[in-house]
Amino acid sequence: MRESYKNVAAMLADLKPIDPVYCVYPHVYCATAEEFLAGFPGRVLYAIKANNEPKVLQALLDAGIEHIDCASLQEIREVRALSQDVVCYFMNPVRLRGAARTAQQEFGVNHFVVDHAAGLKLLLNEIDAKRSVIFVRLAVHHKSARVDLSSKFGASAEDTLTLLQAVADSGAEPALAFNVGSQVMSPDAYVHSIETAIGVLERLPFKLRLIDIGGGYAKAYPGFAAPPMSDYFAAIVKAAHFSLLDNGELMAEPGRALAAPGCSAIAEVLLRKDNKLYLNDGLYGVFWELRYDAHDRYPARAWHNAKPLNGPTQPFQLLGPTCDSDDKLPGLVELPVDIQIGDYIEFGSIGAYSLGGRCDFNGFYSNLVFNITDPDSLPPG
Ligand SMILES: *Cc1c(COP(=O)(O)O)cnc(C)c1O
Repeated sequence: MRESYKNVAAMLADLKPIDPVYCVYPHVYCATAEEFLAGFPGRVLYAIKANNEPKVLQALLDAGIEHIDCASLQEIREVRALSQDVVCYFMNPVRLRGAARTAQQEFGVNHFVVDHAAGLKLLLNEIDAKRSVIFVRLAVHHKSARVDLSSKFGASAEDTLTLLQAVADSGAEPALAFNVGSQVMSPDAYVHSIETAIGVLERLPFKLRLIDIGGGYAKAYPGFAAPPMSDYFAAIVKAAHFSLLDNGELMAEPGRALAAPGCSAIAEVLLRKDNKLYLNDGLYGVFWELRYDAHDRYPARAWHNAKPLNGPTQPFQLLGPTCDSDDKLPGLVELPVDIQIGDYIEFGSIGAYSLGGRCDFNGFYSNLVFNITDPDSLPPG
């Protein structure tokens, strides 16, 4: 099976694909990772749940990402299949029975997270505390987070202090983690959460080495503005006056910010009815995130006979191929008025929360993934 094409035109000319095709642009992943690694004042963990496609993971590893935030043993296995050197962190307070033990014994994982005394007890039954770092996850809230992750995980300030002491007593190294949310629209949310965390740590009788401030860095989409990454970094640098041990380090867990830009999805137009275009991919496929209330479309460009289709445009409604009447993309997308059956639409900025959530509902599923090798070739958007 072929792994790559020079560009999308070459792929379309060669394959005229019947199934949706997902394109990975490694040079875009490289630029995105370099920006984050250069800008964030600390250790950068890629949150693999945003996109666990091996070509995406490989592109990020090649770009210099050396730490991966995993939530399951399976994600740890997927990382280990590509690299023995990368450091995996098991950052889910809820794990399958035995998963932490296997992670440590077979895969060398030594970083874990808890947010409850019962969870700490379960974890300590499975791991060797002496060689482990256990993060306590503090609940933080901010109105600008589109998704408030603290509604599910995170301990109160009081419980966090008690848990940090219990971790220290177990012989493991205590550390602090929190997660502001996802699609956090305001860098102030990080300032607010960091100040909350500093307030909690002032009441702790010992110092910590590691503070993990989580993910959530927002990504812009058409009709959905987001601040540049540099605004987040500036806010974090200004606020993060933690009193840490001498070798202290800040950590971040970006998922979307690293995963989104370097991927495109290419769908065929199966049927056109006026301004309605029926595609071979939909809300049960790569577009599943559009079911949730955040952005409503991706940047798009049209292809005809393996060449870009230009000319005057109009807004189109896009519909998936399944028989579920809700399988419609929420936002209207501007495309050439001449677009017709058999043409393709390439959607950009679709690397985050896309490939990882598609399913085979109604019999539609594609796993055609190619690298695009021409560094001058860029996804739409
Ligand atoms: C989902 C998640 C992330 C990544 O979130 P993004 O919004 O994609 O940056 C990071 N850390 C944890 C614990 C998560 O659950």
